[in-house]
Amino acid sequence: MIGLNEPSGPEAPPSHVTALTPQIFREGGFLQEGLGLDHRPEQAQMASAVAAALEDDEPLLFEAGTGVGKSLAYLVPGIIRAMDTGRPCIVSTHTIALQEQVEQKDLPICRRIFSAHPSTARYAEFKATVLIGKSNYLCTTRLAHALAEKASLFSDVEFAELQRIAEWAEKSEQGIRHELQPPPLPEVWEMVCADSSGCSRRNCDPNSCFYQKARARLRTSQLIVVNHALLFALIAAGGARAEGAGPDARGVLFPDDFLILDEAHTVPEVATQHFGLSLSSYGVDRSLKSLHNPRTKRGILRKRGGLTGAALVERALEASGKFFAAVEVSLLAPRPVARLREASEVEALLEQPLAALQKLLVQLSDKLEDGRERDELLEHAARMKSIQVSISEWLTLADQGQVYWAERGGKRQTIVSLRGAPIDVAPELRRHLFGRGVAVVCTSATLALAGDIAPFAHRVGADDARTGIVLSPFDYERAMRVYLAADVPLPSAAEARLSLDVIADYVSFCVLACGGGSLVLFTSYADLRAVAATIQPALAKAGRPLLIQGESHSRTELTRQMRSLGNAVLFGTDSFWTGVDIPGTALAQVIITRLPFDPPDHPVAEAQAERIREAGGNPFNELTLPEALIKFRQGVGRLIRSQSDRGVITLLDARLLAKSYGRLFLDCLPQKEFTRLTRDNRRERFLPFL
Ligand code: SF4
Repeated sequence: MIGLNEPSGPEAPPSHVTALTPQIFREGGFLQEGLGLDHRPEQAQMASAVAAALEDDEPLLFEAGTGVGKSLAYLVPGIIRAMDTGRPCIVSTHTIALQEQVEQKDLPICRRIFSAHPSTARYAEFKATVLIGKSNYLCTTRLAHALAEKASLFSDVEFAELQRIAEWAEKSEQGIRHELQPPPLPEVWEMVCADSSGCSRRNCDPNSCFYQKARARLRTSQLIVVNHALLFALIAAGGARAEGAGPDARGVLFPDDFLILDEAHTVPEVATQHFGLSLSSYGVDRSLKSLHNPRTKRGILRKRGGLTGAALVERALEASGKFFAAVEVSLLAPRPVARLREASEVEALLEQPLAALQKLLVQLSDKLEDGRERDELLEHAARMKSIQVSISEWLTLADQGQVYWAERGGKRQTIVSLRGAPIDVAPELRRHLFGRGVAVVCTSATLALAGDIAPFAHRVGADDARTGIVLSPFDYERAMRVYLAADVPLPSAAEARLSLDVIADYVSFCVLACGGGSLVLFTSYADLRAVAATIQPALAKAGRPLLIQGESHSRTELTRQMRSLGNAVLFGTDSFWTGVDIPGTALAQVIITRLPFDPPDHPVAEAQAERIREAGGNPFNELTLPEALIKFRQGVGRLIRSQSDRGVITLLDARLLAKSYGRLFLDCLPQKEFTRLTRDNRRERFLPFL
């Protein structure tokens, strides 16, 4: 048990959240008078709705347009409520970068707001902790072990890296991987990170364990900032129950906590990924080779496993190779992702070798006294069991509520993964979030469809939740111009190449006609690469830097370059439609090359569509279209990031005019007026601000 703040007991302490929040956010309130920050009525409205949901421990789904200042609107009431009641407030954001933004930008403002008036001064003392996944922390015990056992575990290059990590660990305060630059070699970090099968707090000094120190900080924190991936990983690992809550106790991650999810439009997707099965040939290989690596002869069985251990691992490795090859041949030969529709006839070749290894590991552990080595052997035995169980579940399609599939991945497309995911994530979310008896606030700039949050509420299993919407305070009519190319051929199979050529022509023209930076959004890498190849010479000639997603730099690095270059052209797919925040002229134009319809051929989408059809519904209207509309709104939302921003949205998909659903996309635009372009009139009509 983590033992967070003591529960509030039968007599709940008085909560001031609904009284204080309006005083802070109202016109002339502490935020405006005390700090000189703008009064935003939309922010005040959202903060009051959040305060009321927290006070009543009710779910709330709240859409807040760009520029509302939603972080403060949930952080301020969240902190007041946590300080008043002694219950931890969990804030979850989409990425680690957004966690850092909350910690470094928003929380200092909260302290200043609270300090601005005597009646709120005590809240400025709140304590906050940012928690990231366990595998991001260095394990000092494993590091010491690795340094001592270097001959059996590492090559020379790896040992040099290990020493670099050891030197850094001496000075590091938090022991978090991303503090170490350049980043550590993954294969070495994996051997010394805290997410080990042998992690046992019983045998380690809590004062030198970075992870335990991070967990200890939770006990005294009123605010805990996590990311969605970690949140759902912790929930899948038991959530509040794993932290000591009784079967009937309320709470999501910790007993009697409450939760606020930002960027909540991503929740269905992230939750779907975490409430399922995932087992890769690479992961099985690494698990087995951490016991015994036939090439290097290193591994944890080297000391006690003897020849029997080595032989068993080698047998399991061989079986694993054959098993995953059989999955690949039977399912993945013609395509990289394939659904498993009926129980597989692939033989369960790993069953027996894994059982034998598990038995050996338990036998070896039985001979040892309590201690780290024994724990490690037992944890590896459990890992063998869990691989066995996952394979068996996958082969037999054990859960009717899940969809199962195989996929090929990795840089060289040689890794085979067995996957499973819930077809409907709503019951899981009801069980783990909205039905936990505590306030769960979901917020984002894009939850609603045509002003209605009900479809999102239904999708996440929160049909009865309170809802609210406030629009962006930005003056889009002044700040945004919208252009729609009317003469791009529709992306039908017959016209696909021609359509792409015309898109490339438009991208080239619009980018060169606009002096600031342009973000060009695609729906496939193939299109992205084809258009990049076509227009690269023209951009080079004009001295315009071209940044391309998927070519060496990370998303964070590409965004940083775009911000600093000022006139760059960034080509992005999927993840660039959301979350990119580049204010000013460095992003003066967003070009949407095609409407973001996800192809309905992924097994999860396919199974969801089948379920809708079985219920008499229409999958395009109920699934594909709503998702595309949300993504389109996200893409358009990249443009205007501050009150003073101005810019251009250029739309190159003629389905906006030709199809009946096109109107729904155009209605999503915050600036409803648009100008039609053709290749004949665009020189006169296309007028970017820069
Ligand atoms: S508690 Fe776990 S992470 Fe911490 S030092 Fe021990 S083994 Fe490592």
